[in-house]
Amino acid sequence: MQFADDTLFFCEESHSNVVAIKAILRGFELASGLKINFHKSRIAGVNVNRNAMVCYAKILNCGQMGVPFKYLGLEVGGNPRKTAFWEPVLSKLRARLNAWRGRFLSLAGRICLIKSVITAVPLFYLSLYKAPNCVCRSIISLQRRFLWGWGKEKKPIAWVSWEVLCKPKEEGGLGIKDIRKFNYALLAKWRWRLISEEKGRWKEMLFSKYGVDLECRQASIKVQSWWWRDLQKVCTEGEGEGWFNQQVVWKVGSGDKVRFWEDALAGRIPTRESLSRRGVIMNTILCAMCELQEETCQHTFIECDVAQRVWVLCLRWIGIVSVQHNAILAHFESFYLPQLSSRQNLLWKGVWATIVACIWEQRNSVVFSQGKIDVEEIIQKVQLKSWQWLKHRDPSFSYSLSDWMLNPLVCIRSYK
Ligand SMILES: [Zn+2]
Repeated sequence: MQFADDTLFFCEESHSNVVAIKAILRGFELASGLKINFHKSRIAGVNVNRNAMVCYAKILNCGQMGVPFKYLGLEVGGNPRKTAFWEPVLSKLRARLNAWRGRFLSLAGRICLIKSVITAVPLFYLSLYKAPNCVCRSIISLQRRFLWGWGKEKKPIAWVSWEVLCKPKEEGGLGIKDIRKFNYALLAKWRWRLISEEKGRWKEMLFSKYGVDLECRQASIKVQSWWWRDLQKVCTEGEGEGWFNQQVVWKVGSGDKVRFWEDALAGRIPTRESLSRRGVIMNTILCAMCELQEETCQHTFIECDVAQRVWVLCLRWIGIVSVQHNAILAHFESFYLPQLSSRQNLLWKGVWATIVACIWEQRNSVVFSQGKIDVEEIIQKVQLKSWQWLKHRDPSFSYSLSDWMLNPLVCIRSYK
């Protein structure tokens, strides 16, 4: 693996593997005419006998490296849950933000320095490791001392509370980053990259190690590293699904990424009823769309008056008559046309999923952005999204949107 200007070799521990690496490196020297600086290279073992390590280091003619070690300025192999792990960060901050330096700066200058130092010095650590509470407190205390010019003995007054200073300028604060939230945001970025990036060796690695799917749900709980556990913890804090999932909206796209219909069928959608069942305190558990009944999956997607109107109009659009089942699973299963092949029926189920997703989307717009229920709008969305989905699934799908809107059955039947 090559990263930055380093080359890293990984191998299982055996004498012959070490000899092979030596041979490869020697071969590289002969072929390229370049010289490898073995004295600058290091070898490290994980659970390897000490005597064996001495022997391997001798073969490679290089030094040994203990754990934890520093890589790109970051401690690797240490325990970030211990305060000692963060000592380098704290001491750097202490040096930068000492009161003596602050004395010669104006308040504006001190604020500026606090902002730049906090984003520069511990950024690397904070973007990979979850800082323990005591470390966060120490950092905040350093920042506060520096801002208000607290020396060793005297203790001037803090004129404004720290929480206020951490607010954005528009809200009357100074826009200083709250270290805890900053840490969370940086860590959540990993999760975001995990779900938003298409490919990556690092993703494959995490996948094989933890068996996670794209939504970071564990397929199987294996032994997890503290890093992974902290990442999970950071993202699931807060009410219900946690703040992260509440902010992330899964759009119906290629279909394979979206577990939405599976979730809907399994009753895993965070309806008000299911949230309250999971102990989240809600103002109401009534349906956001009709406010008449409990908001369960079954009600939201099938029984609710809004859903009923959507299904009637959708079935009319498709041009079929079907019995409406009340149970969500039966409803899904009855969304099946005997004149279609099984592959065509699979696409059909995709349309079902799109309808359900569009109802949920409308429900969310009512809950989160004071949207109004508009059944016509839902239908239009269903038509557009299902068409996009079909095109995405199969680039040879050549029907235009208006074809699809006019005669969806013909379009589906063209799938072989
Ligand atoms: Zn309702």
